[in-house]
Amino acid sequence: MPRSATDPAPASAPSSETDFAARYDVIIVGAGVAGCALAQALAQADVEGRRSILVLDLHREVSPRFSGEFIHPRGATVLDALGFMPALLEAGAVEVDGFVVREHADTDEPVRLDYASVPNERARGVSVHHKRLVRCMRQLAAENPQVSLRTPWRVTDVLTQPAKARNARDARIWGVVAKGPGGRVVELRADLVVAADGKASSVRKFAGIPDARRNLGFTAGLEVADAAQSNPLHANVYLGGPGPMLCYPIIREADGTLVSRLTFDLPKDLPAKGRELAPYLLETFVPHLPERLAGQVAAALEAQAALGPVEMAPTFDLPAPPATAPGLALVGDAAGCSHPITASGMTMGLLDAHYLALEASRRASVAADEAWLDDRALRNFRVEHERYVPTRQALADAIFEAFRGEDNGARGIRRALFHYWRSGERQRVRSLALLSCAERRPHVFLSEYLKTARHVVGSNMTPRHAEHFPVRDRLRQVHGAVGLAGTKVGLVASVAWSQLRPTWLTA
Ligand SMILES: Cc1cc2nc3c(=O)[nH]c(=O)nc-3n(C[C@H](O)[C@H](O)[C@H](O)COP(=O)(O)OP(=O)(O)OC[C@H]3O[C@@H](n4cnc5c(N)ncnc54)[C@H](O)[C@@H]3O)c2cc1C
Repeated sequence: MPRSATDPAPASAPSSETDFAARYDVIIVGAGVAGCALAQALAQADVEGRRSILVLDLHREVSPRFSGEFIHPRGATVLDALGFMPALLEAGAVEVDGFVVREHADTDEPVRLDYASVPNERARGVSVHHKRLVRCMRQLAAENPQVSLRTPWRVTDVLTQPAKARNARDARIWGVVAKGPGGRVVELRADLVVAADGKASSVRKFAGIPDARRNLGFTAGLEVADAAQSNPLHANVYLGGPGPMLCYPIIREADGTLVSRLTFDLPKDLPAKGRELAPYLLETFVPHLPERLAGQVAAALEAQAALGPVEMAPTFDLPAPPATAPGLALVGDAAGCSHPITASGMTMGLLDAHYLALEASRRASVAADEAWLDDRALRNFRVEHERYVPTRQALADAIFEAFRGEDNGARGIRRALFHYWRSGERQRVRSLALLSCAERRPHVFLSEYLKTARHVVGSNMTPRHAEHFPVRDRLRQVHGAVGLAGTKVGLVASVAWSQLRPTWLTA
């Protein structure tokens, strides 16, 4: 239950690592990518150095779970602007060129989607081992004099006024309760609390914001040194197996070794668990990789089996909840997440940090005893956030279904997507601009969606793979794909609405 608090006391600097100030301008819960980026962005927005920002995380070291690593140019631009990039490259981050997608590993000409082809964007993204990424971001963010990073502190509740409000709409949040080393419990006050605590956000729950999370399955990940790929600086997508596989670089070691991450997408009802997983992947997924890479992956799986189970993380779809409430903002995965197939989660979190800090810099000169990010600033942030999040979610949902689904509809859409991409450079550029979050205009999303749907009919009637796809099967694919597209109408409509809705309708 939310707890009450008395009037906030004025801000003052804490005297040691274990002390806290009586009040902060902003408390950020979660020192992952989104929380660290926001701490850094707010510190930069506070040009006069008058504000205090507290970051709390329950993990002393970086969260141990295997997580995102590939960041689109839009996200890399934010990392650049916040001054993280030199340290990340020094720590082994790799600049990356886009995607290469293969429908069948050894038989088909791959489709290349190059970031450099998207006009007015940074020509490269960046990819880095998640733990190195967060470690580096934490260190740099905490160097700002306005930022205090405290770990391991778990936020266990929020402070609201009035005390017994049932949900965030009826109350103003003005602090958190946190539990730290030795079981010490503190009440901490702030003008703004930011939930950057990931997809399972506790703060979101304490604030009474409904959680419509849906478990989609699992992603297993493996590291492969000097992976044999014709495009080693792209994220290579391999289809044809029981689920999509992705292979992309994550570390350039000092001795020149390029370490890549290989991910396997697994269903919710896991076909194998624990030590059984490696032999299952070897038997069912690995034969769908190109021959040399398959050999390397087989060896890496064998080596991993001797060490312990393959690393794995659950994947979720969380339709974007309201990103603000009085005294509260949600950023990163806490504000919505999708299947990682479009590798856009961290770019979303970085954009959230950028836009929230933009509001902070607009109010950089208000008196220090006035709320830095007031209700109006939060509303502006939410309007912006709701312009990029739904497009990305709709796209991730559509691509996930096309790449992973094994029914007739999904196979039809997958075929149509490849047909569409092969039909011209312009088509590939537009798709990549949407995929990498560079394009968010609703008419572009809608027209791309409809064009792909049109290709469902065209591509399935073309006798290109006649030996694999008899006419009866192709008709079934058309029928199934049209049905699947029909189920997406609501999704597409919500994207259009999120962009066209008048600003005053955002609470
Ligand atoms: C398998 C997998 C692969 C992915 N691949 C990609 C990819 O290639 N590219 C991409 O862009 N995205 C990818 N993603 C998504 C990406 O990992 C997330 O979007 C990103 O990590 C979200 O960052 P965040 O800071 O919002 O949340 P998190 O990374 O979840 O960080 C939340 C932080 O909050 C802390 N915390 C939680 N609860 C509390 C509490 N009560 N009190 C204090 N602290 C708390 C946690 O310890 C953690 O440090 C992938 C995700 C998965 C699962």
